[in-house]
Amino acid sequence: MIVSVLGTAAGTDTLAATSSYLVDNNTLLDCGTGVETLPTESLLAIERVLLTHAHVDHVGGLAALLACHAQHGGQGVTVHTQQETVDELTSGLLADVPLTGYLTTPGAGGLPLLRFQSLEVGDTIPLPDGMATALPAQHRSPAIGWVIEGPWRALAYTGDSGPCPAFWHWAANVPSLSDIICELTYASSDAERAKAEGHMTPGVLLGLLEVIPPNVQIWISHLSSAQREQALSEIKRIAPANLNIAELKPGTVIDL
Ligand SMILES: [Zn+2]
Ligand SMILES: [Zn+2]
Repeated sequence: MIVSVLGTAAGTDTLAATSSYLVDNNTLLDCGTGVETLPTESLLAIERVLLTHAHVDHVGGLAALLACHAQHGGQGVTVHTQQETVDELTSGLLADVPLTGYLTTPGAGGLPLLRFQSLEVGDTIPLPDGMATALPAQHRSPAIGWVIEGPWRALAYTGDSGPCPAFWHWAANVPSLSDIICELTYASSDAERAKAEGHMTPGVLLGLLEVIPPNVQIWISHLSSAQREQALSEIKRIAPANLNIAELKPGTVIDL
C-alpha cells in the first residue's frame, strides 16, 4: 500500500496545497487543496474520502473532486466521517450551491455523486489492500484521527488535534506501526492559541511521543505558514537524538 503526500499546509492564509493524502489510487485521507494537483484520471479513480473534520483546509478540495466526477462520468465518492462532521458540512461548506446538488445527483452506477457514511471512533473501513480505523482527536471542532494498516506496515494520522493521549496509546498498540503523521501547528510562543484552537506545539507533541516506539518515523505536518521555521527548529532542538523526526513534504511517498 502506497500513501502519497499531496498537501500538508494548514489554514487558509497559504497558497500551498492543504492537507490531503492519496492511499493507493482509490482512497483520500482528508481532501484539502492538495487533491487538486492530481490529473483527471487520478481524480476519477478515487472512491472514498476518510475525513478528519470539516475545516476548509481539510475539505477544500472536495468541490473540485466532485466537479471532476460530475463532468467526466465518474461514480462519485463516499465520505467516511463522524455524524457531527457531516452535520457541519451540510449546514456550512456544502450548503453553498452547487455542492448540495451532489447529494442527489446520480453518478455512473446510479448512486449519488456524494455519499456520506457516518462512523464513530473505533469503527473500521475496509480498503482494497488493508483497512482504516477511526481514532480519537481533540480539536475545536468535532474531529477524528485515522490509522491506515497496509499489508506490512501501518500509518497513524493525528488530523488536527491538541493533546489527545487516547490517540497516542491507540497508535502505540498497533503492532505494525511504522509511521505517524503529526500535526504541529504552532511554536511554543503561541501555546495559548494552540490550546484554544486544539493544536499542538513542540513541547506538547514531544511529551505525547514518549509512548511511541523509537523506531517509528515521525512526520511533522500542518505547520502554520507564519511559524513553520520556528516550530521546526524548536522540535529539532528539544527532541532526543534517537527519535526519527522529519518535516513531511508534498511528493513524499510512504510504503505500507
Ligand atoms: Zn487544519
Ligand atoms: Zn482544523
